[in-house]
Amino acid sequence: MGMGFLTAGGKCFCMDDGPGVSPAASMDRLAARIAACTLCPLSLSRTRTVPGEGPVPSPLVFIGEAPGKTEDKTGRPFVGRAGTILTGLLADCGLLRGEVFITSIVKCRPPGNRAPKRDEIAACMPYLKAQIALLSPRVLVPMGRSATMTLFDLYGIPFPSFREVRGHAHAVRDDRSGRGMTIIPVYHPAVITHNPPARQDLESDFRKLAAFIRSSPGDRK
Ligand code: SF4
Repeated sequence: MGMGFLTAGGKCFCMDDGPGVSPAASMDRLAARIAACTLCPLSLSRTRTVPGEGPVPSPLVFIGEAPGKTEDKTGRPFVGRAGTILTGLLADCGLLRGEVFITSIVKCRPPGNRAPKRDEIAACMPYLKAQIALLSPRVLVPMGRSATMTLFDLYGIPFPSFREVRGHAHAVRDDRSGRGMTIIPVYHPAVITHNPPARQDLESDFRKLAAFIRSSPGDRK
């Protein structure tokens, strides 16, 4: 397998693992590369990188905005309060957490949990692109406005507002592989920690996601 992406600095980011190397082994190499990454200033304040976890390949990929405090400490995605909520929502969809891949737009925690900056997102994007190529997903699930906006930008989809696009299926084609995929944005699980009435919207998004998964169980290559 050979893949090359340009980093924000214009350097070639290559994953030339050669034939016979499994996607899972390539993902491990990618995680090691992320662990050593100093491409943006978030490398200065992180404790640990949080590349993501789950099966490789994976038909379902959940994408948050950035690691938080607990994730930064443990190196694992969605292990804090938002992670507990996500695990419950997945169970409502009939899914075990271990059955889906979970990652985020940037792999290092922004200080004080601020939103990642545009240049930080751009610097980290080659890693997400490489992950999507290795995972061959059918469905990408960006969680929250920021992750959704970033993915829509990546695939060239108009983004009128988060409210208008959330809970709906958006068909895209991966430029590199030519594979068809579907993006289904949902609210970020953490929304209910600061806005409890949003629970209804969050659960509604995940019900729609579950209905989509049930209605299209096959390979959508
Ligand atoms: S956020 Fe991404 S680009 Fe920035 S240092 Fe971490 S891994 Fe590298």
